[in-house]
Amino acid sequence: MVQLKSPREIETMAAGGKILAATHQRVREAVKPGVSTMDLDQIAEDFIRSHEGATPSFKGLYGFPATICSSINEEIVHGIPSPKRVLKEGDVVSVDIGVFYGGLHTDSANTWAVGVVDEKTAKLLTVTKDALEAGLAAAVVGNHVGDIGNAIETVVLKGGFAVVRELVGHGVGHLMHEEPQVPNHGKPKRGMKLVHGLTIAIEPMVNAGSANTRTLGDKWTVITIDGKRSAHFEHTVAVLNEGPRVLTR
Ligand code: MG
Ligand code: MG
Repeated sequence: MVQLKSPREIETMAAGGKILAATHQRVREAVKPGVSTMDLDQIAEDFIRSHEGATPSFKGLYGFPATICSSINEEIVHGIPSPKRVLKEGDVVSVDIGVFYGGLHTDSANTWAVGVVDEKTAKLLTVTKDALEAGLAAAVVGNHVGDIGNAIETVVLKGGFAVVRELVGHGVGHLMHEEPQVPNHGKPKRGMKLVHGLTIAIEPMVNAGSANTRTLGDKWTVITIDGKRSAHFEHTVAVLNEGPRVLTR
């Protein structure tokens, strides 16, 4: 069921989204060679809980054990933080975080370079970020869900990369995952029409090589089929008559 949000609910999500954005900055400052993904998880959890009424959305969601999803290099999404996963110079780490605040969830992700990365990886990050911005810009009243996916995939293909199709963006708010699904590919004017008060997470996952994926034996971590790198950027956005309002910037 699609649940449209009242102005008051959108303000609450903006407040939660502000905590989430600050959490990403804390994590970003900690990303360096020698730091484990468990260290990043601890930083994120402590920071979120230091705000009265805020809790991590992901911990316990579908049984996920941590505050962040941390996915290194060929890992696309849903990596489980571990003291054994230590960042190295030249890696990339995708960090996905959700915050539950005032009864509502917000959801966002960033991919960080660990030190200096090679040129192709740097381009992958730039193109994925640009694809997210194109998707956000298409989140306007009167457009359709397919316009968002089309805007994203157009940027990705132009950049010479591939969009992951098995995983999609989604409505977000009272639940972490609400309707509609928001694929990162699509045809203009197809899918649900976007209306005032809709809140969605737009989250392109972009692979340097093949678009295809597989899931590891831990039943969580999704990786690229060819071992090439992947990037993931995400924001929660409110579709409003006055234009898209990014709640997690
Ligand atoms: Mg997310
Ligand atoms: Mg999401």
